[in-house]
Amino acid sequence: PIRVRYAPSPTGHLHIGNARTALFNYLFARHNNGTLVLRIEDTDTKRNVADGEQSQKDNLHWLGIDWDEGPDKGGDFGPYRQSERKDIYQKYIQQLLDEGKAYESYKTEDELEAERELQKANHEMPHYVYEYEGMSEDEKAAAIAAAKAKGLEPVIRFHIPADHNYTWNDIVKGDISIDSDSIGGDFVIQKRDGMPTYNFAVVIDDHLMEISHVLRGDDHIANTPKQMAIYEAFGWEHPVFGHMTLIINTETGKKLSKRDETILQFIEQYKELGYLPQAMFNFITLLGWSPKGESEIFTKKQFIKQFDPERLSKSPAKFDQKKLEWVNNQYVKNSDENEIAGLALNNLIKAGKVEADPDLKTIEWVRQVTNLYKQQMSYTAQIVDDAALFFSEPAELTDEDMQEIADDQAKPVIDAFYKKMQTITPFSALNIKNATNEVRDETGAKGRKLYMPIRIATTRVMHGPQLPETLELIGRKTVLANMEYVMS
Ligand code: GLU
Repeated sequence: PIRVRYAPSPTGHLHIGNARTALFNYLFARHNNGTLVLRIEDTDTKRNVADGEQSQKDNLHWLGIDWDEGPDKGGDFGPYRQSERKDIYQKYIQQLLDEGKAYESYKTEDELEAERELQKANHEMPHYVYEYEGMSEDEKAAAIAAAKAKGLEPVIRFHIPADHNYTWNDIVKGDISIDSDSIGGDFVIQKRDGMPTYNFAVVIDDHLMEISHVLRGDDHIANTPKQMAIYEAFGWEHPVFGHMTLIINTETGKKLSKRDETILQFIEQYKELGYLPQAMFNFITLLGWSPKGESEIFTKKQFIKQFDPERLSKSPAKFDQKKLEWVNNQYVKNSDENEIAGLALNNLIKAGKVEADPDLKTIEWVRQVTNLYKQQMSYTAQIVDDAALFFSEPAELTDEDMQEIADDQAKPVIDAFYKKMQTITPFSALNIKNATNEVRDETGAKGRKLYMPIRIATTRVMHGPQLPETLELIGRKTVLANMEYVMS
């Protein structure tokens, strides 16, 4: 059976890159009627953050990803938090120690640093040098006893076999082969605090949890031979590996890194801006995977049906903010207006444009305002700027505005329109439209000469949604006040 896992470290919010890993594993599991395991890799205690696990889970749920086994779900292979599996790791560490495949290492950080400096000076790749080289068992035991007597705490290192080749057929990259001498020497499997390292715990867990396929980012390729060495030491088969290509920010041309400030990188941030989860799901799935055909908009169901890891791309995925906005706009346009208005309302409240706990009238008004902008909207937070004219005091005219309304024809248009705005009843889009036509007939002004003076005098915005609807929503009082400002 297909069993895959998403294994986040709870060190922060859900990053785009990790969301993609989660998504591909999810799609792979669902496509094959397999099982998705959520495993929390929290052994690096210094880097864990308090709500890291919860935030990961919340954001995964928001995206529409669910899992079958995990710390909150249970399952036959738990516990699903590495911090709760210390006894399990301990047992396997002991087995390797007993079999002479791992050993206590007492080199201090300073000694290791000096070793690396020396290697650098000799133009060698940095690597750990076996500290008991050439010693008999007795001499080794004596060295360890001496270190213990000094009060030193050991790490446990795994003995990497010499002259060995680690080769695997990667689902994404094809055959990969890495030599044991390029691994950097015997590596740590248990830290001084007794916690296993990632490379060790991941093997024990993937084996015991019967993981069939490991799909992860290609920043882990260098770890794979280390993990294979451990599988081999226990006589276990390793899972199928697939390493997804990195993501490039099209803005900078560089690999997406958490330090890159040109784009938002956390799912949480997109959620705040009013992006739709289905759109994010859609966009992220197309980062390094492509279905057959040209279409770019898919439902989750369609993705599950089509997902085939053979179509994971071998070249870097491009993160293009403009494309994300386009995708989201496709979903915004076709979403229920109440859903979009609800998101826009949140954005307006957060921006301080609408009071928290708005009454029904305000909610209805926001719905109508949002509808005016919905077709063009990339994400709902844009409403705050797009609809600024609904929330600002009548502003000064810009030079550009002045030019548009400075000619002789503009004044009669504005005067005539003002009079009608005082009296039309009700103050509706239809009546405003009729009034505009009457002004045209009375003054002879047409096209731009008619609309620009009215637009600027009433809204100060040269381009915007349909004017009659806009003015109705602005309301008579504000429309008149805006106009008086221009007329006086
Ligand atoms: N906790 C690791 C990470 O977040 C998981 C890597 C893996 O999938 O093996 O990068």
